[in-house]
Amino acid sequence: MKANLLVVDDQMGVRRLLYEAFKEEGYEVEVAASGHEALEKVKIAMPDLILMDMKMPGMNGLETLHEIKKINDSAVVIMMTAYGELEIVAEAMKVGIKEYVTKPFDINELRETVKKLVMAQKGDSN
Ligand SMILES: [Mg+2]
Repeated sequence: MKANLLVVDDQMGVRRLLYEAFKEEGYEVEVAASGHEALEKVKIAMPDLILMDMKMPGMNGLETLHEIKKINDSAVVIMMTAYGELEIVAEAMKVGIKEYVTKPFDINELRETVKKLVMAQKGDSN
């Protein structure tokens, strides 16, 4: 099961953690430090799944999500939010995220969530 993940987060520590964790699981992982960088990567090749931070300077996660959906309406996105950002989560749900996790997240839980979504997606397309 080879899936391509895109990790979008302005914090290098988070990008590094998720890169290492998912590489180890056998995924292809790309990282982006901003919404703009994420859009550039999504335009070149749509990843199977996008893990996206909500709070980023410049273009935030919600704005980036809107732009990604314009490029590909069926993009699969997991949003990473801070505790208590329920309004933003509700709005992101309307735009079409698949799941969200609250920071600080449990990496094992996130692994399971990603696995579940990737398997559902692979099951859909073939
Ligand atoms: Mg952030």
